[in-house]
Amino acid sequence: MVAPGYPPWVVLHIPHDSTEVPADVRSQFLLSDTELDIEIARMTDHFTHALFTACVGEATVVRAPVSRLVVDVERFADDRLEPMACRGMGAIYTVTSNLKPLRRALTPTEREGLMRQWYYPHHERLEAAVADVVARHGRCLVIDCHSFPSVALPYEQRDVAIVRPDICIGSDSFHTPALLERAFVNAFEGEGWRVSLNDPFAGALVPSSRYHKDERVMAVMVEVNRGLYLDLEPVRRSLDFDRVAKMIYECASHAIESFVCKP
Ligand SMILES: [Zn+2]
Repeated sequence: MVAPGYPPWVVLHIPHDSTEVPADVRSQFLLSDTELDIEIARMTDHFTHALFTACVGEATVVRAPVSRLVVDVERFADDRLEPMACRGMGAIYTVTSNLKPLRRALTPTEREGLMRQWYYPHHERLEAAVADVVARHGRCLVIDCHSFPSVALPYEQRDVAIVRPDICIGSDSFHTPALLERAFVNAFEGEGWRVSLNDPFAGALVPSSRYHKDERVMAVMVEVNRGLYLDLEPVRRSLDFDRVAKMIYECASHAIESFVCKP
């Protein structure tokens, strides 16, 4: 049977799978080419575009075109609102995953230039996609699509001895109905995966104009353990990639269906 794909009221948000670093941004980094390659290998949610859009159906896809080392579109624009900013990892990172210096100090104009070129346009695309879906379908589900390393990186400040789950579901108190959250956890657990909720990563992103204002915009984050679908050194898709991609779609699709069918 051919998979029907996601319904048209789903937006797949893919913020972290690009490895692109434009030349003018490269010159801000304090890393050698080898060090930068290692940092990109560690921090990128490799191939999450392919992983989550294998059965895209009628969903809208919004993907960040540059590496999170250029700007991290998943962070709040304002460092005062962004909890990771105090670790040097707000929208514009100043440190590496090892908490070593990543960038030279930027002038306010340089910082604003990066935000204008890469951050705000991405959020405008996300805002437009969600607005269009809500206008046409009366609701929208943003699935925030990520992966995470099998072993915690130093910046996470977590115990590396703790075994990580296969799947982490992230939710938001306002935008993730309890039934939807449960449906996602149950669907992935039902396939035999070890699932955790809001751990090691928490939350789910929606456009800022809707944040904690518009209940028609729902959100859930799906984070996949990279050990499930990736070979390292060199980074490449593992032999399980297609199977895992299909299972992610089937679980998410099943979760959406069972949420919609609840009275
Ligand atoms: Zn990510």
